[in-house]
Amino acid sequence: MLRWRAWLSAMLLASFYLLPWLRWDGRQALLFDLSARRFDLFGWTLWPQDVGVLLGLIAVLATALVLLTNLAGRVWCGYGCPQTLWSRLFRWIEQGTTRWLPSPGAARLARHALWALVAGWTGITFVGFFSPMHGLVGNLWPLAWSGGETFWIVFYAAATWGNAGFLREQVCRDLCPYARIHGAFCDSDTPRMQYHARRGEPRGPRVAGLGGIDARGRGLLDPTSASDYAFRAAHEDIAGPMPHFSADRLGDCLDCGACASACPMGLDVRAGPFPDCIGCGACVEACDARLQAWQFPTGLLRYASDNALQQRPRRWLRPRTLAAAGTLLVLLGIGIHHIV
Ligand code: SF4
Ligand code: SF4
Repeated sequence: MLRWRAWLSAMLLASFYLLPWLRWDGRQALLFDLSARRFDLFGWTLWPQDVGVLLGLIAVLATALVLLTNLAGRVWCGYGCPQTLWSRLFRWIEQGTTRWLPSPGAARLARHALWALVAGWTGITFVGFFSPMHGLVGNLWPLAWSGGETFWIVFYAAATWGNAGFLREQVCRDLCPYARIHGAFCDSDTPRMQYHARRGEPRGPRVAGLGGIDARGRGLLDPTSASDYAFRAAHEDIAGPMPHFSADRLGDCLDCGACASACPMGLDVRAGPFPDCIGCGACVEACDARLQAWQFPTGLLRYASDNALQQRPRRWLRPRTLAAAGTLLVLLGIGIHHIV
């Protein structure tokens, strides 16, 4: 999963950096040329009188995001959002420089130099969607950008550097409007990151060689005891310390804390589910690695809906799904009718 996520991030980042270089019929394929008041989208040209088409396109994308959220949860946040992609890239640079350069000072210098390079090129690329890319790069040395181009390149580079290098998931937690409203699009069939408490509880360290619950024939806990143990473990301050369990009563959670350490949002998914969870899967990777090392079956943390976790059948015809899918179909129908 880790490799798959890294490849997807690399592909999306590469698409962003390469798109402004793509040509179509002798012109830049994707160019929102504000000064010329013309938008080129892969051979399709929009003029000021086509502003309704552009608004329609934005409405289609927004509705598609609502439908995606209802069907698949916050996958946009975990896999496609620019904030996640650039934070991952900047974190990867940070880890690489720390690992490869033994001196902390040299590592810091290299990290900031690489961050500045990436942020600067990101600023140029971003402006390259609004001002011809070849012209921007051609005017790089000697510098001959217009005042507007210079302002937006510096602004976007600084925003990338600050958001991806320092603020990171704080942006998701405190600033992103989608994070505030996404819950309104979800229901009990929308998947989210879940801890299988009936299998994992009671959690605790154990001696090597003690098999998982299946190998020991312990089976799943009843739902009430499982949620009671999970709640008590997460709220020791009000529930008091957990009782001591004999080894044969333990669940499959090793209480190793690897899931919480891996979480970029600082969450312990066992105390969730949390609305702040961006569904990135880092906790699953960390947990599965631990379980495999202990030769336990994986899947103690899983991306699943409440209904799936309680083994209830999935409903496809749900009010929010129908509303989003219906709106999307109407918008697409209007758009196709307008174009044809
Ligand atoms: S709980 Fe898991 S999926 Fe959610 S943000 Fe943390 S690591 Fe990512
Ligand atoms: S990583 Fe898995 S086994 Fe370790 S504490 Fe988290 S849920 Fe339990």
